[in-house]
Amino acid sequence: MTPLIRVRGARKTYTMGTHEVHALDGVDLDVKRGEFAAIVGASGSGKSTLMHMLGCLDRFSTGSYHLAGEDMSAADDIKLSEIRNRRIGFVFQQFNLLPNLTVLENIALPLAYSGIPLSERLTKARAIAAKVGLEDRTHHKPNELSGGQCQRVAIARALIHSPEVLFADEPTGALDSKTGKEILALLDELHEQGHTILLVTHDNKIADHARRKITLSDGKIVADTERSDAKVLEHSEASEIQNRGNLGFRDMVRMGFREGLLAHKLRTSLTMLGVIIGVASVIAMSSFSEGSKLKQANQIRALGANLIRIVDRRLEDQALHQARASGSMGLTREDATLLREAMPDITAVAKARDLSLEVMRGTTPVASARVRGIAGDYLQVNNLALAAGYDFHPLDDLRQQRFAIIGSGLIPEGESPADILGGAFLLGGQPFEVVGVLENKFVDTTELEAVGANDANRDILVPLGSLTSRFTHVPLRSELDEIMIQLAEEDRLSEAGRAIRRILDIRHQGVEDYDLIIPLDLLKSKQESQRLLDILALSISAISLVVGGIGIMNIMLAAVTERLKEIGIRRAIGARRQDIRRQFLVEATIISMVGGLAGVLLAGLGVAVASRPLDFPIVFDPLIVTIAFGASFGTGLLFGAYPAIQASNQNLVEILSRE
Ligand code: ADP
Repeated sequence: MTPLIRVRGARKTYTMGTHEVHALDGVDLDVKRGEFAAIVGASGSGKSTLMHMLGCLDRFSTGSYHLAGEDMSAADDIKLSEIRNRRIGFVFQQFNLLPNLTVLENIALPLAYSGIPLSERLTKARAIAAKVGLEDRTHHKPNELSGGQCQRVAIARALIHSPEVLFADEPTGALDSKTGKEILALLDELHEQGHTILLVTHDNKIADHARRKITLSDGKIVADTERSDAKVLEHSEASEIQNRGNLGFRDMVRMGFREGLLAHKLRTSLTMLGVIIGVASVIAMSSFSEGSKLKQANQIRALGANLIRIVDRRLEDQALHQARASGSMGLTREDATLLREAMPDITAVAKARDLSLEVMRGTTPVASARVRGIAGDYLQVNNLALAAGYDFHPLDDLRQQRFAIIGSGLIPEGESPADILGGAFLLGGQPFEVVGVLENKFVDTTELEAVGANDANRDILVPLGSLTSRFTHVPLRSELDEIMIQLAEEDRLSEAGRAIRRILDIRHQGVEDYDLIIPLDLLKSKQESQRLLDILALSISAISLVVGGIGIMNIMLAAVTERLKEIGIRRAIGARRQDIRRQFLVEATIISMVGGLAGVLLAGLGVAVASRPLDFPIVFDPLIVTIAFGASFGTGLLFGAYPAIQASNQNLVEILSRE
């Protein structure tokens, strides 16, 4: 029958500079199933090295090793990890439990690396805990247990998969003699049940406990004796736990939260801060920028939707004479009529002419009022509504009626719009009857001056005919100061503007005596010029995200160094390199994603709070939110990758042997 363990000509050589150390120097060894053997020898004789090799924690330099007939020298990390996980159990001198996990979770841990669901793991662990006498300690943490109890947990963990062989490295070394005896009794019991046990010790008395004693000296087996009462019991209990794959994603995330995030709350929250600030500022900045743009555009629309303004240049003296001599009459009513006829997508046209007149109400002068003569669809085009009274009748213009519609800003305090109807304003000494009062428009025009918006609240509107015929004017002056045109569609403003210019250039004989203003277009180009600022702001936020990423990398590297022992333990009980790599990567990604989420929430909160006093509409570009959150995710992956690789590439024997 093939022995469970067969080693032939095994050597392990360490190179220390130019010097070679032969930790094992030609070992031949057979161990049968059900044996209880002790490996003894002085310190430095190679016991631990042999156990590490047999336990698949490391490989022999030369020689062959067959475990249950299978050649181990050819196995890769995945294969070796699987063997450690399912066919080998380890018990160490220092117990090697994970301090953050409960007794039950520690015992169940190896099962996580074979893809067994949590509830099943815990059930199985509870059964094993009872077997080693720990049933009433299952929810304690290792630091609440005695040394003997810790070692029982370690033994239970080693037994969870019903391994083919149990390796115990000085299992009583850290215990007092009484507890040590109990542990040895437990090993005896396991042997009686048919487990194969290999015990490493420097203590001959403990070795006597085993049925067979293999003595090492300078890396060679110098004696191999068997007790007369030695018996070999075939271990009948085959592992009933099926191989179901590897560490599941849910376990990885659970581990990431518990061991990465919650284990060091302050540290992780500080680390997250960079990501939080980065994500929050990207989103908040874009939201404010979009909000202010939208606010301005909305205000411009409030002052007149789809509006094109043609404004006379009010030439004077020489320039005026030259223009008239060249055949241009300046802006005229006829221009307006012609445009309307030529362009079918014009929905309304208004004409206006301003005159600087002294304005009085009774005997009180009215300061800063603007007198405008208007004709056409003035109210509609400028998006104005009446709070009281009526709009002019088209005939008022022809009849040169002395009627006025006044802005709400001209109503004296304490009077309502209705009170003022029928009253009179003196314009240049002539009385005009108030027939209408405009509604107040809450538009802050100071911000919009650049695009030519005016405040209608202090306007006195009179029929255009009344203004042109009842007052004296500068000779040769243009008939109109402004033609306002409303178009059917916002998208066609620029195109229509070009058409208007073509028509007017012909009518004005090419004289440049007017300006074309498209408020929405002006605003758009003004906002375009702010784009650079936006990009700058976004870059700063992006830098903050990178800084956050570096913070994550920093903290993860520190965590790797701090948790070498944990990495070693996990690897010893069956975690593959890629499991460790993923574990650390998931932790880094969780930090950055939670940071990203917090950043999104913070931005939402900040924008919601700040937009009210700033009177901004709340705008969230879902694309920016997605990009910012995605970037935080990417940051975790990117900056977590190097620490994760570091974690997985540790020398297993070295980190396990650390104190
Ligand atoms: P024991 O467990 O019997 O005390 P070890 O197996 O730990 O002995 O060590 C056997 C020999 O190999 C010792 O001389 C030790 O110094 C050497 N050795 C063990 N591990 C290493 C290593 N990683 N690098 C160099 N030498 C080592």
